[in-house]
Amino acid sequence: MDDCIFCKILEKKIPSQRVVETPEFVAFKDVNPQAPNHILIVPRRHIPTVNDLTEGDKILIGEMVLQAQSIAKDLGISEEGYRLVLNCNRGAGQTVFHLHLHLLAGRPFSWPPG
Ligand code: AMP
Repeated sequence: MDDCIFCKILEKKIPSQRVVETPEFVAFKDVNPQAPNHILIVPRRHIPTVNDLTEGDKILIGEMVLQAQSIAKDLGISEEGYRLVLNCNRGAGQTVFHLHLHLLAGRPFSWPPG
């Protein structure tokens, strides 16, 4: 997608601090971190929102969560705990319309999130 900032990051037209790269995903640091650890796990395929996922994406979503689990382990935050967030559409706070899983850790998190 020409106007998608995450597509441009994935194509290396915009720089990012990459943490992990696989054939399916890129994980990079959020430019405006909301916690000491704030990583975005972003599929290479442009999918705008959770609403656009289909039955065929079951493996993709599972692998995104397992990728987050793996990154958390590498960062040494598995036992302390971390939060995974998927914002869907503007009402939930989504600002970049290319599916991404937030991995947040390193500070206390309240529930409900507010
Ligand atoms: P969301 O509000 O769920 O759509 O999250 C989008 C996230 O992308 C926000 O946390 C932004 O800080 C982050 N973001 C936007 N532009 C960049 C960028 N160029 N590099 C890294 N993260 C970005």
